[in-house]
Amino acid sequence: MTAKLIDGLALSKTLRAEVATRAAALTARGHQPGLAVVLVGDNPASEVYVRNKIKACEDNGIHSSYDRYPATLSEAELLARIDALNRDPKIHGILVQLPLPSHIDSHKVIEAIAPEKDVDGFHVANAGALMTGKPLFRPCTPYGVMKMFEANGIDLRGANAVVIGRSNIVGKPMALLLLEAGATVTICHSKTRDLAAHARAADVIVAATGRRNLVTADMVKPGAAVIDVGMNRDDAGKLCGDVDFAGVSAVAGHITPVPGGVGPMTITMLLVNTIEAAERSAAQA
Ligand code: NDP
Repeated sequence: MTAKLIDGLALSKTLRAEVATRAAALTARGHQPGLAVVLVGDNPASEVYVRNKIKACEDNGIHSSYDRYPATLSEAELLARIDALNRDPKIHGILVQLPLPSHIDSHKVIEAIAPEKDVDGFHVANAGALMTGKPLFRPCTPYGVMKMFEANGIDLRGANAVVIGRSNIVGKPMALLLLEAGATVTICHSKTRDLAAHARAADVIVAATGRRNLVTADMVKPGAAVIDVGMNRDDAGKLCGDVDFAGVSAVAGHITPVPGGVGPMTITMLLVNTIEAAERSAAQA
């Protein structure tokens, strides 16, 4: 059996075209959507992510502002900048690229973002709203994964879903969105006793651990949908996920590649969230 490839690039292209149309409509009414991106320090991976996000904005009619600060920026200075962005009517979404330098309390910074501009969906108000089923914003990576299920006709109602990873930005919100869609959800993590047994019972697996080759063919039920969120480097420095792609694609029903799977979808959903924020703001103007 060879799994059907879930193409995140192709789906992103379709969704970004919709974003561009909505952005143009807002701009025509004098409400061009705007995203502020803030980067502190010189983490090379963060620089690449930020560059990709800004380019995606530019390509789709979203105005972006980019604040790049040295690692020596104080927490108070960063909070003051966020306060200014919260009050800037041209900015509808604020993204502070994580991780932040260790002298800055990330939690405090995220909580300083106005919830209606928190397009990453990490603010406690949005996390809580997600828990109760009425989120202003869904965190971009799990939101993108849900779009992949939808676009590929993968029925989640009654499905056994196993999420591997329990971070606030991927694993936990992923589990909540799957639950909302009617799946029976198991969240696994580094303390899980028999990960393989849980995985083998799953119709849907979402791997988000940052551990290369964690999910192997013997852990996958034939026909299962396997979503690989992980972003790792192999020994040759090539980007790879958490799933042994060659082995698992011989067993699974659907699989996402790395690169070209969840990664582009994450950026696409950031654009979607920014458009939604701008549309809400325009409706109140
Ligand atoms: P975290 O490091 O915050 O969380 C990793 C999770 O994986 C933890 O819950 C950890 O368990 C669990 N874990 C680690 N090792 C194992 C193991 N051997 N078995 C089972 N569970 C394990 O990472 P993130 O959630 O931020 O990111 C996860 C991965 O996804 C990373 O590779 C990251 O780069 C990638 N990523 C990709 C994105 C994309 O757009 N494609 C976006 C965001 C992240 P415990 O809690 O017990 O420590």
